[in-house]
Amino acid sequence: MKAVVYEGPREFSITEVTIPTPDPNQVLIKVATCGVCKTDVHIHNGEFLAEFPLTPGHEFAGEVVQVGTQVADVQLGDRVVVDNTILCGHCYYCKRSQPLYCKNFYSLGVNRPGGFAEYVVANHDKVFSIGSLSFDEAAMIEPTSCAIHGMDVIDLRPGDDVLMFGTGPTGIVLAQLLRYCGASNLVIVGSDPVKLDLVGRLARADTIQMDRSHYDFHTQELMKKYPEGFDVVIDATGAVQVLQQCPKFAKFGGKIVVYGVTHESDTITLSPYEIFHKELKILGSFAQTHCFDRAIKYLQLGLVNVKGIISHRFHLDQFNEALEQVSTGKGHVKVIVDMRQ
Ligand SMILES: [Zn+2]
Ligand SMILES: [Zn+2]
Repeated sequence: MKAVVYEGPREFSITEVTIPTPDPNQVLIKVATCGVCKTDVHIHNGEFLAEFPLTPGHEFAGEVVQVGTQVADVQLGDRVVVDNTILCGHCYYCKRSQPLYCKNFYSLGVNRPGGFAEYVVANHDKVFSIGSLSFDEAAMIEPTSCAIHGMDVIDLRPGDDVLMFGTGPTGIVLAQLLRYCGASNLVIVGSDPVKLDLVGRLARADTIQMDRSHYDFHTQELMKKYPEGFDVVIDATGAVQVLQQCPKFAKFGGKIVVYGVTHESDTITLSPYEIFHKELKILGSFAQTHCFDRAIKYLQLGLVNVKGIISHRFHLDQFNEALEQVSTGKGHVKVIVDMRQ
C-alpha cells in the first residue's frame, strides 16, 4: 500500500509499504479521508510527541475491511472513525482515572502509524460507527472531539461572555459549541475575512477583523464595544503575540484558555500581580480522549455544522502540497487528503 513515511523531522517520502495485519483485538481500515491540521506541521518539525519513523495522520475515517479474530463489536464494511489515542491503563495517571495525562500516551499519527496511508490498523475499542455522516464530515470528528474536551476544560456558565482569537477549523467548531452551550456575548477575532464570515454565521457570533501588524485596531474596537471584558478569553491561534494580549480582555475572575498549539520553545510574559488581583484562571486544553461519542452525536444532530468547511482536497501523492497549504498557504479552511479520488 501507499503511505507517507517520515524517517525523521522534515524527511518524508510517499512510498510502498506492507499492508498491516490486525492483531486479534484490532481491525484494518481502508482510509477514505484524513484531515491535515497544524499539529501535522508541528509533527513534521519533530514537535508534539512525534516519534520516528512515522506515518502521520490522526483525523481519519474509512471502511472496515478486515476484523481481528477476537473482535465482535465491529463488522466488515462498517463506516468508521477512530479515536486515535491509545492509553496504557496502568501508569500513575491511568490508575487515577486521568487517562489524558497517561505517561505512555500513544496516538495514531503522532507516535504510532496513522491515516496518511491507504490502510491503518486500530484497536476495536477505539472504533466508532459514523452512521449517516459523510466521510468528509467524519474527517472533522477528531477536531470536534478536541473542541468538546475544550468545553469540558472551559466549564462554561450560561450567560458567560466569551472572546476567542482564531478562526481555524477547530476554532470554528469550538465557537459553535460555545454558542450552543450558553455563551451570551460571543466575539471571534481573526485575520481572514472569509473564515470570520463563516464562523460568524455558524456560531451566530460577533466578528472583529484583526490586522496582524496593528493589534491596536482590534484592541480598541474590543475595549469600546465590550468595556467590561469577557468571562472567558480563548487563544485558538497558537500565536504567542496573540496569547500575550489575552489577560487584558479578561474580566475579574475570568479564564484564559490556551487552546491553540504554540511552538514548544515559545514563552509569554505574565503579570503575577494581574493574575492575583483579577483572580485570573489560566487553563490549558490538550487534545482529547473519550470525547468521540459526544462529538459524533453533535455532528449527527447538526448542532455542530462542518458541511462546507473543507476548502482544499489533495491526493495522498500530494501530501507535500497539502502540508504546505496548512503551514504557509492562504485562503483555506479545512484541508484533507482524500483517498477516494
Ligand atoms: Zn488535528
Ligand atoms: Zn497510562
